Parts: sequence; C-alpha cells; structure tokens
Amino acid sequence: MTDWYRETLHAHIAQELAIDRVVYRQRTEHQDLVIFDNGTYGRVLALDGVAQTTTRDEFIYHEMLVHVPLVAHGSPKRVLIIGGGDGGTLRRALEHPIERAVMVELDRTVVDLSVEYMPELSAGAFDDPRTELLIADGCRFVKETAETFDAIIIDSTDPVGPGAVLFTAEFFADCKRLLNPGGVFVNQGGVPWVQSQELATFFPRLKALYADASVFSAAVPLYIGGIMTFGFATDDPGLRRQPVETLAARYRALGLKTGYYSPAMHAAAFALPPFVESLIAGAA
Ligand code: SAM
Repeated sequence: MTDWYRETLHAHIAQELAIDRVVYRQRTEHQDLVIFDNGTYGRVLALDGVAQTTTRDEFIYHEMLVHVPLVAHGSPKRVLIIGGGDGGTLRRALEHPIERAVMVELDRTVVDLSVEYMPELSAGAFDDPRTELLIADGCRFVKETAETFDAIIIDSTDPVGPGAVLFTAEFFADCKRLLNPGGVFVNQGGVPWVQSQELATFFPRLKALYADASVFSAAVPLYIGGIMTFGFATDDPGLRRQPVETLAARYRALGLKTGYYSPAMHAAAFALPPFVESLIAGAA
C-alpha cells in the first residue's frame, strides 16, 4: 500500500508524491516540515504542505535563481540571500568569486535537517568562510541592517504563512535601500498559470522601485502548472540586456558546471509568453 504526500498549495488542483520513506517529520517553531524519499524526485523537502525542493530537480531552480543575476551583474562581491534554508541557493552563490554571502533564514531546523538529510543541496556551503548564516526574519533583517549588497536573492516560500512578508512593498523598499549601485534583486515569482495573482501582485511593487523590473522563467518539474517565474529588478537596464557573448565569456571564466543554466538559456529565459506578459503589463 503506497502512502502519498498530497501538496495543498493550490485551490483546485493538487499533486501527490509517493512516499517511499518518511525520513523526518517535525513541527518546527515556524512550519510543518517533512523530508521523504520519492522514486522520481529522490529526497523531497516540504514545508506547510508545499513541496519546496528535491535532490533530483533542485539544480534547475537554484541555478537559475542565482546564476542569472550574478552572471548578469558580472562582478558581485557581497550577496544577501533571504530564505533558502536548504542551502541550494547559497551553494550556487559561492560558486562565484564573491567575498561574502549573508543568508537570513527564519527557521534553523530547515537548515539543520537539510544539512543532515539532504547534504548534497548545500554541499558544505554553510561551512564556507565567506558565509554568514543568520537565523532571523528576513523582513526584519533588511529593515535593521546597515550592510549593502551587490545582489539580493529572495528564496522564500510562497506568499502564505511566514513567507508572506517577503512579497510586500515595504520589504522590497527595504531591500532596494541595501543594494549597491548597479546591484540586482531577484525573487521567486511562482507559477503564473496557477498562481497568477502572485506575479500580478508583487511585480508592480518592483516596477515602482526600479528603473528596470522584469521577469524570467524556468521549467521546474516540482512546481506544477507550467513555467516558474522569477522577478529581476535593477536600476541598471543594461544588466538584463547583456549580449549572449558576454554571458558566455563570463560563464567560461567562472568555470560553472550546470545542468540547466547556460548563457543561451539565460538570455532566452527573459522571453515570456503573452499570457505572462499580460500579467505584468499592467504594472505602473
Ligand atoms: N525553492 C523554494 C520555493 O521556491 O518555494 C523555497 C525553498 S526554501 C526551503 C524557502 C525558505 O524560506 C524556507 O527555509 C523558509 O523557512 C524560509 N522563510 C520563509 N519565510 C521567511 C522569512 N520571513 N524570513 C526568512 N526566511 C523565511
């Protein structure tokens, strides 16, 4: 008899993942956390009924969330990551010659259990001397810190529960204050075919703050309903328009080993289908 993990993120559709083995289940201080094995995805991390990441397809989301902004920037030195408790985002950021990565994660248990049961995601990133891990609410951190960054990466849960504050205009404004000139902000923007309100709600808030706000996408199998989107915002319009040749030269110089990101995929990711363009066209 197979047990199934039923994801309850969407109103009228759900996905179920066969549970081969529950590795760990705990109500943390902030969230219901489950780590389980699945024959297709490998090991799965789920929070509050939502599948977050898996050992088999995490590379797609984390490569695009990190390499698109950092390769576009060209010479990031200080990176801020909000969320990202599994460590996959931090690991990719440290593949760049940055000097410092500050990661602000709300839930210490997510980090500890990801390192223990899904170590391939962080692959030692939390022990990198460039890493500073802070256990705090990201919304509060950006309000209080005086530090500035070249890239700010929001790897949050969906805008429900503890992640909701990471989609507000106030949070975005506080992040903008922390960006160095020529800096770039990215966040996870949900799957617009099933979460159209997410993009339509937060994107105008980015557009109001930055000279150039845009969206790029990736096909992440775990996030059902079609392409996954990411917000990309900067006051340097040139960042998004880097020629593929420039991206390719940087990619080679970095020596990145990737399974989904490539210079061509980077450039193509900003091409959006009309139904997504229409969701963001109304932005101020
Ligand atoms: N890739 C996933 C996605 O797109 O849904 C997100 C992965 S990561 C596990 C999401 C992280 O955001 C979790 O570790 C969660 O604890 C963290 N988080 C949620 N709200 C937060 C907040 N207000 N401040 C900092 N971290 C937060």
